[in-house]
Amino acid sequence: MSLRVRFAPAPTGRLHVGSARTALFNWLLARKAGGSLVLRIEDTDRERSAEAHTAAILDGLDWLGLDWDEGPLFQSHGLARQADDARRLLKEGSAYRDFTTPEQLRAALGRRGNAGARRVPRALAEELGEAEAECRALAGEPCTIRFRVPEGETVWDDLVHGTLRFANADIEDLVLLRSDGSPTYNMAVVSDDADQRITHVIRGDDHVSNTPKQILLYRALGRPVPVFTHLPMILGPDGRRLSKRQGATAVQAYRERGILAEALVNFIALLGWNPGDERELMERSELVEAFSLERVQRKSAVFDVEKLEWLNGRYLARLGALQLLPAVASRLEAAGREEREERLVALIDLLKVRARTVEELADMAGPYVEEGAIDYEPDAVAKHWAKEPAAVLERLKLLRARLATTAWDTPSLEEATRAAAAQLDVGAGKLIHPLRVAVTGRMHSPGIFDVLFLLGKERSLGRVEDALRRLRELSARVS
Ligand code: GLU
Repeated sequence: MSLRVRFAPAPTGRLHVGSARTALFNWLLARKAGGSLVLRIEDTDRERSAEAHTAAILDGLDWLGLDWDEGPLFQSHGLARQADDARRLLKEGSAYRDFTTPEQLRAALGRRGNAGARRVPRALAEELGEAEAECRALAGEPCTIRFRVPEGETVWDDLVHGTLRFANADIEDLVLLRSDGSPTYNMAVVSDDADQRITHVIRGDDHVSNTPKQILLYRALGRPVPVFTHLPMILGPDGRRLSKRQGATAVQAYRERGILAEALVNFIALLGWNPGDERELMERSELVEAFSLERVQRKSAVFDVEKLEWLNGRYLARLGALQLLPAVASRLEAAGREEREERLVALIDLLKVRARTVEELADMAGPYVEEGAIDYEPDAVAKHWAKEPAAVLERLKLLRARLATTAWDTPSLEEATRAAAAQLDVGAGKLIHPLRVAVTGRMHSPGIFDVLFLLGKERSLGRVEDALRRLRELSARVS
């Protein structure tokens, strides 16, 4: 029988990073094993579910390149079958009717104390008797249907956690059908997974406590029990479960920040899994090849944004400038800056190895596409201008004069700068750093001669002029 897995998100918002990890691990396993991935939208919580949320989840999966083989199926379309399964359990004696109201149940619990509290609804149903229950149900009195948890213990071999055991005495007689006839989560999931012939259930470990209940339901229904795997929690940098408090949790928020889908997939794959060697940068095909549930670790994974950005930088550097052009251009446009495509491509080529995100790349590109005066980074000014503004002023004046008469290509610009340094009898750095601040406003940039070439003669010399003015002010203030 071939492997069948499913990703079963509840449509309650955008695709969360934790859900994306569940989706990815299911996807990797399906692709590796040549099995099928079913996408099932668990939309039975009508108040919270919304079509827009379903669309947002599909959008997130689509962006990450996680395709599915069947679906999207909707849990709400299976309500009749799920309810039929519950009624079958009732007919066969694995479930019973419960007519108690919450108040009656509370009162009964008070009378009986804690001992056997989990079986109180069952005891009340037995007191009532089956014949009476049947009569009341026929008369239309609302009741819930509860599962009759058998004695013994429920054990499964979790592919991540090893053997897990639960004493059935600790499991409540869970409600399968509410009094309005709607199936509960555990009933719906088991009915759907059985109907969809799911062989492996892979989900977050917040579901561990549901699993014994679900296994008992499979057995009562006479359906094969799937293999269960629970993925470790994802923690934020503060050691608490990843939540909005610590930053973005939706996959799409990373897209907006200029993280590439391939980098995010690579990063998410390493949340709780590793290939068994030192590799970190892994393409999708390598992930599929190396993936196995046996290598998923038990301990929680930490969401390390620095690592995500590092990985993203590596992916950025590998992309051609043309591939990055639309994302960078649209960010610049949004900031009211436009640039000729040809020049922007050259600029991206120069900057992409230094940026970790597209957002950073667009930000770095700012000074290069600016027409008017540029802003200077205070740190850069403090370090390369403000310590000896008069001396820097003299050096830059001489340099400007040399640059003004040089052919505007990278080797000539370098030659002119080195000649100026020799004439002044200072190291080339004493010219290059102040010059970088003058033309980019920044402490760091790509090679300064590439920068000058790209900016062009007029813009470069104009900026040196502006810098000279600033330096005059600075030295006047110092003296
Ligand atoms: N719909 C559930 C959730 O979003 C997942 C159910 C399951 O995987 O069994 O947490």
